[in-house]
Amino acid sequence: MPVTNPEYRSIARKHLMQKKVCRKCSATNPLSAKKCRKCRSTELRMKRSNRK
Ligand SMILES: [Zn+2]
Repeated sequence: MPVTNPEYRSIARKHLMQKKVCRKCSATNPLSAKKCRKCRSTELRMKRSNRK
């Protein structure tokens, strides 16, 4: 279900950005996470979804 309201869209995008993704198992973790909650890897990267 696509979000049409631009305000909701920006909010949703912000929330999406505030995650870290594990490089090993690609699980999403909270920004505050220092370890992956799934595999406990410390190789977390910021989630980036810059679509144009
Ligand atoms: Zn992981």
